[in-house]
Parts: sequence; C-alpha cells; structure tokens
Amino acid sequence: MVESEEWVTSPDSYNKPKEEILKQKRSHVSQYRAAHMQLPLLAATLLKWFPNLGEESEKLGGRLVPYLGPMPVYSGKPFIIPSYPSGQVPMTVAMRRPLFETLVRRLIMNSCKNVRYLPGTVVGLTKDSSASPNAITGVQIHTSEKENISLSATLVVGTSHSVQFFHVLRPNSCQYVIFPDPKLDNRILGLMRRDKNTLDVLVGGWAVTEEISNIDDLKAYLSSLKLHIPLPAWIHKTMDLFQQFEAPMRIEKSRLGISAYIQYHLYDYMPSNFIAVGDSVMTLNPIKALGTSKACVGALVLSGILDKCEPNATDRLPDDFSKRFWKRHAACVGPNWTSNKTDDYKYETTTPSKGDNPKMFNRFQKKFGGWLLELVLKEGYNDVAATASNVQRHLAPPTDLFSPKVLWKIIRYKLFDTPA
Ligand SMILES: Cc1cc2nc3c(=O)[nH]c(=O)nc-3n(C[C@H](O)[C@H](O)[C@H](O)COP(=O)(O)OP(=O)(O)OC[C@H]3O[C@@H](n4cnc5c(N)ncnc54)[C@H](O)[C@@H]3O)c2cc1C
Repeated sequence: MVESEEWVTSPDSYNKPKEEILKQKRSHVSQYRAAHMQLPLLAATLLKWFPNLGEESEKLGGRLVPYLGPMPVYSGKPFIIPSYPSGQVPMTVAMRRPLFETLVRRLIMNSCKNVRYLPGTVVGLTKDSSASPNAITGVQIHTSEKENISLSATLVVGTSHSVQFFHVLRPNSCQYVIFPDPKLDNRILGLMRRDKNTLDVLVGGWAVTEEISNIDDLKAYLSSLKLHIPLPAWIHKTMDLFQQFEAPMRIEKSRLGISAYIQYHLYDYMPSNFIAVGDSVMTLNPIKALGTSKACVGALVLSGILDKCEPNATDRLPDDFSKRFWKRHAACVGPNWTSNKTDDYKYETTTPSKGDNPKMFNRFQKKFGGWLLELVLKEGYNDVAATASNVQRHLAPPTDLFSPKVLWKIIRYKLFDTPA
C-alpha cells in the first residue's frame, strides 16, 4: 500500500492510545475530523474478516451497537423501525472517523503479515508496450525520501479522489438523524453518540449559509429547523445542560467539493489490471453517509473477482480482469449516483450535471421515491420499511425495491389505502 501521508504508515500511529490518535491531523483527507456514520455493511464486512472487531473497537473506546439510523426521522416524523429476526439486527461501530480509520488500519496491519506500507506518493503508471497489449506493469512513486522509484505490479488499485486517474438515543442505539422535507427546509440534524462520552452534533445541508461558532448559534439553529413535528424537548434540554456545565466542544467545518462519477466501465481502453475503489471512482454528497460503504463495496467486488481467478503459470491476471471488475462495480455502486442526484435535485440551489434537467430528472424515480416514503412512514408496512432500509444501508440490492411484493403493496396503497 502506497500512502502519501507518511505518519499514517508507521506502526506507532495505529498502535498508540486513543487520546494520542485524536490529536493527529490528516493533511490529505480534508473530512478526517468531520462527523462520520458507518453504515452496517462496513461492520458486517469487517466482522467477517476480523471476528475480534468488537474487542478491538472497545480498546479504542468504541463499541459495536445495533444500527437504527440514519432513517429514523423524516422532518420530525419517525420512520417505522423495521424488526429483524434476533441475531440479524444490522450492527455498526460507534466511533469517530479518526478512531475508526485507525481501527481498520490496526486490524489489517497487525494481522495480515503480507501487507506492507510504502510511504510515498503515486505519481504515475508504467506500461510496457511489448507486454500484454493493455496492462500496466507498475507504478511510479515519489518516496518520502524524495526518490523516484518504480514498483512492478500485477494489479493496481486506486483509492484516492485526489488521484482520480481520470431518536431518541435509545439505550442500545447510537444516533438520531433528521432529514428535511425539501418543501420546508434544506437543513439536517444528526446527533450521534460516539466512542465513550462523545456526542457528534451534525448540522448542515444544501446551500446552508449559517455559521455555527458556539453553543448559542447551535441552539438557534435547532430552534429554527422547520419540521412537520417539532424536535423532542430532550434535545433542547441536552443543549441547555451542555451550556450550563460548559461541556468541552470542538467545531469542525467542512465545505464540500462537487460530486463526480468517473464511469471507468464505459472506457474501452482501460488497462486490464487497473481498478479503483471509493472516492477515486465516485464522490457523493455525504449527507447519506454512503462514502465509506461505497469503498467497502469496491473491496468486496474485488475480493469476489479475485476468488474466481484461476492461478496461472505466468502470474498474470486474466486479460478481462478489469472489465469484469468495472462491470460488476458499476452495477453495485452506479445506482447511488442516480439516487443521490434525485435527492440533490429537490433543491433549486443544486447545479445540475451536464445534460440533466432537474425538473424532468427521472420522474419515475421521484414519484416512486415519494410513494415509498409515504409507506415507510405508515404503520402496517414494516416489511416495506425493512426493504427500504436494507437497500439504503447497502445490505440489499436496489432491485429489491422493485420486487413484486413491494410493488404490489404500493399499488394497493395508492388504489385502496389498505395494506396488502
Ligand atoms: C464532510 C464529509 C462528511 C462525510 N461523512 C461521511 C459519513 O458520515 N459516512 C461515510 O461513510 N462517508 C462519509 N464521507 C465520505 C468518506 O469520507 C469518503 O467516501 C471516504 O473517506 C473515501 O475513502 P477512500 O479510501 O476512497 O479515500 P480517502 O479516505 O480519501 O483515502 C485516500 C488515501 O490515499 C492517500 N493518497 C492520496 N493521494 C495519494 C497518492 N498520490 N499516492 C499515495 N497515496 C495517496 C491519502 O493520504 C489517503 O490515505 C464524508 C465526506 C465528507 C467530505
């Protein structure tokens, strides 16, 4: 693994105690200290690879908890929380990003002895025109010792967008997140109980202009939210308590770049052994907290395709390796692009992608999304709520929303207003 931020690569950085980890700053990941939610796909994947995930998170003050957000509240109206058979409740790791990132690094580096870090910046790729017609032979690296070196590679995986090669805090829950009704407001609120005694308060939204600099600003923000059902009183009381006891508070501000989707799967001339995952393929509005799960989906797709590769005498990947990856990866992460745009286009302040007309944009999806939301907010549709929440959490494919069962329930509801 080539990593341009040198301190990240030293065992010291991922084996030190929590308090010291929290002091560190990341110059290449601007959102390092921003509030992050980990969707359950991440915990499910990591638990499979690292059964000691729970114990290791506790060492850093975090814990594995049932995941009930971020869909519990829409403009103050609670969603029906789907019931899951016992033992199948989706879990998440409740930790702030710096600690979660360190936890993943610690798990990998302390248990996978065949993984090594090389401090340096990837500056280019090398090709040998006499070799395979369309394969990369290696990467060029500017090392932390200011040397330019080349490393040969069987497979190159890009992972950085800077290298786009082209409800109540339930006793066992950890978050309370409100998404706005776009007709009323453009702002969100998230309260997330994190490692040990930390509360992340997430405020922001689409084209938000308010500056929050202290607890009074935060209280004014909470009081001014326009919701169908007002915020529960305990939220205001909690803020009053923080103010009264002068609880230590740190403010992190993030301005977001534009969203982008590099559709590698549409290029015919991609090298057969180059792939990319995470933000190097697609950056999304982080409001739905999909970013790290999207990177995890990339890793899962890669793992599945590698598993199917037959070992061969030349140690080379099959000529259609990246084609297979791009095709499956696009099918898994592509729908996020459309669904995020559908959300963003509900706000007139969104600058449309070239060729999109926000008013016309995917009319069916908008209507279908609206009907689905009505059902998810209604008693008697627990299974539809469970399907919607599994899809949103990356635990089920988007096609589940179009299953005959869900479609039939929507039709019955729209025609007769009765649960099917
Ligand atoms: C404000 C904000 C809030 C967010 N909230 C959430 C959230 O709640 N939940 C969620 O899931 N996601 C959230 N995201 C998105 C999430 O942070 C990203 O999707 C995720 O970090 C992407 O992971 P990645 O591994 O693809 O890239 P990164 O995390 O950016 O990691 C890239 C790595 O590559 C290294 N690097 C960069 N250039 C080079 C180079 N040339 N050579 C070698 N190494 C290099 C960097 O140092 C870094 O270690 C948020 C994003 C923002 C901006």
